[in-house]
Amino acid sequence: MTSSPAGVADVAVVGAGAAGAAAAFHLAAGGLEVLLLERASFPRSKPCGGGMAASMQGLFPFDLSPAVDSVIDQVRFTWCLDDPVTAVLPGDSPFWIVRRSVLDAYLVEQAQTAGATFLTDVAVESLQRAGDCWQLQSRGPEGKALQLKARAVVIADGSGSLLAARHGLGPSQPRYAETVSVEVDCEVSDPSTARFEFGLVRHGFCWTFPRKGGYSIGVGTFIGRDPANADAVLSQLLPSLSLPPLAGVRQPGCLRIWDGHHPLHGQGANAGLLVVGDAASLCDPFLAEGLRPALISGCRAAEALIPWLAGDSQALVGYSNRMRAEWGASMAWGKRIAQVFYRVPRVGYQLGIKRPTAPQRIAQILSGEMGYGDIAQRVIRRLLFQRN
Ligand SMILES: Cc1cc2nc3c(=O)[nH]c(=O)nc-3n(C[C@H](O)[C@H](O)[C@H](O)COP(=O)(O)OP(=O)(O)OC[C@H]3O[C@@H](n4cnc5c(N)ncnc54)[C@H](O)[C@@H]3O)c2cc1C
Repeated sequence: MTSSPAGVADVAVVGAGAAGAAAAFHLAAGGLEVLLLERASFPRSKPCGGGMAASMQGLFPFDLSPAVDSVIDQVRFTWCLDDPVTAVLPGDSPFWIVRRSVLDAYLVEQAQTAGATFLTDVAVESLQRAGDCWQLQSRGPEGKALQLKARAVVIADGSGSLLAARHGLGPSQPRYAETVSVEVDCEVSDPSTARFEFGLVRHGFCWTFPRKGGYSIGVGTFIGRDPANADAVLSQLLPSLSLPPLAGVRQPGCLRIWDGHHPLHGQGANAGLLVVGDAASLCDPFLAEGLRPALISGCRAAEALIPWLAGDSQALVGYSNRMRAEWGASMAWGKRIAQVFYRVPRVGYQLGIKRPTAPQRIAQILSGEMGYGDIAQRVIRRLLFQRN
């Protein structure tokens, strides 16, 4: 199927996180010559709660269960560790907790089995057009300069992406959530319950996800660049899990969140470039769900690139349009909900989450059964007019 000149891959994928590895798998399985380039040594750890809708299995022909750490069937919400609401998730095992070091390495392995070439310790520094192909100026192990070539490039370099905005893809000034993640190794009291705590964090929330041998805990703020006082929050949260207030290894981070519809494919001089995952600012601005859009965009990017490389000039526009319909439409409502909810979180909790049907709706959103558009207008009206 490939018609690239010698030394030129069909597609280079920059970044082997969930988005890049998913794209590389589908591109290689579609018969293309794929170079998957990753700055880190693999397997690498990645601060992430690892909560993921089980419906993501539908994107892959291989079994994802080797990457699944635990299966969640209940979600528990609290306000200042009190006033709890519990929702039983719909369907069979709809929400999984994955370990990112395992999931990402597993997806890469599947991409390699499908024929992709995987290079670790290679950081792509810039992209330049050279005739019909892209030249990737890169640094390999020990800082060695490398020049790689491909007809198309999938930019999957995560929330710190330097390449996306430089080539006019995604927002020119991305918006960020501030996060602190904590991994605690301990005995887990309720391994099938995910917890969301809303009252302790200004403009955000904390999550506690059980995994094998411990918890993935996080603190996130979603409005402004207002770092949560994570140590103070954790010193209250951790004892509620029977853990010492200073337990765990803490890692601060920034997460690009969805902030409007933007082209996710390059045009004119940038033809042949696509952006996926966090680099495309796809992460949910209300609940920080980024794995689902990372995997969906990786798969959809591959589905668009295969016909584009075979001569269908409209296929990459189709990728931006499809992501807008399949993900962006729901996120536009998620952003509006976040802006109202996190400004009046106590009211939001009482009127938005403590309603009899609300936890179930949130669970359906997390499991991918519903989008924010299905609930948004009623939720926003309730929060703005503060009535039940
Ligand atoms: C604390 C925290 C908790 C989270 N919890 C959840 C959760 O429970 N559920 C959920 O759905 N989402 C969660 N998210 C969001 C989720 O982690 C991200 O949305 C997801 O990792 C996006 O995947 P990605 O492949 O786009 O980017 P990444 O996973 O960040 O992968 C990008 C890859 O690109 C590589 N790279 C970067 N620059 C270069 C370069 N120049 N050259 C080559 N390689 C490069 C990086 O090393 C990395 O491996 C969380 C995020 C944070 C910060």
